[in-house]
Amino acid sequence: MDRAIKGLAYEGKVSIVAVDTTELVERIRNLHDLTPTTTAALGRVATIAGMMGLTELKEKEDSLTIQINGRGPMGSIVAVVEREEAKALVKVYAQNPNVELPLASNGKIAVGQAVGTDGFLNIIRQNEITKTAYNGLVPLVSGEIAEDFTQYFAQSQQKPTVIALGVLVNKNGVKRSGGYMIQLMPDATEEEISKIEESVSRAQPVSEMLNQDKSLEEIVRTVTGDENALFLISDLGIEFRCDCSKERFADGLASIGKVELDKIIEEDGKANTKCHFCNQEYDFSKEELLEIRKTLE
Ligand SMILES: [Zn+2]
Repeated sequence: MDRAIKGLAYEGKVSIVAVDTTELVERIRNLHDLTPTTTAALGRVATIAGMMGLTELKEKEDSLTIQINGRGPMGSIVAVVEREEAKALVKVYAQNPNVELPLASNGKIAVGQAVGTDGFLNIIRQNEITKTAYNGLVPLVSGEIAEDFTQYFAQSQQKPTVIALGVLVNKNGVKRSGGYMIQLMPDATEEEISKIEESVSRAQPVSEMLNQDKSLEEIVRTVTGDENALFLISDLGIEFRCDCSKERFADGLASIGKVELDKIIEEDGKANTKCHFCNQEYDFSKEELLEIRKTLE
């Protein structure tokens, strides 16, 4: 399983989380048969989703749903993250996973172009027990994901945040993937802020540092410029998990309503459903559909 750590720099005035998501992103690439372009895009989304799961979610019942739709060729992207003790459980999919674009003019994977910029990043926080939901909606900045989430934290949460996400990928798969997130508390000084800015801009891309086998701790010291950064929790994890079930899909079929369901029963006599997140298929026979129909009386 991939590893994640949390810590504090500058005597607690700066909080940090850093993650290695190499296994997670390779798993997602295989599952959705992604191209290098969509691996980079979905890998970045999965990485920030994992970090948010580890920093924003406390209870088992809490979840975050991330929706990105920039009207780019990838279509909409959806990620869901939940928490299970020291682990963030992530699932993600894109409407069009087969998009492959030539490298951008800077030689990098054209994630922004694939995602698009004409749209929004929407983050929905839900609690299963209290049935409450909040959402934060911000316009996309560049479709490059890290910048878009930085904007989300600034606008929606009023938290100055530095986010780096990186996926090193080629035709054979994910070489390294990871990210970090630095958040400044209100008492961080100008001097400390500019030290962080300088350190971040001097540092190599996060996937490159991981590829050089730098530890997450070393990466945090490098990008904060604080040799005395404290690591509070160093055994966090991120993994792929989809919690779909036939029962949930039955609920989904019930939710389309009597008229639509009758139409399916009469015209098709069965229903074949598929989970977007993990590709698991659930088939419903006519008898099963009639059972679901009964619950709607
Ligand atoms: Zn599933």
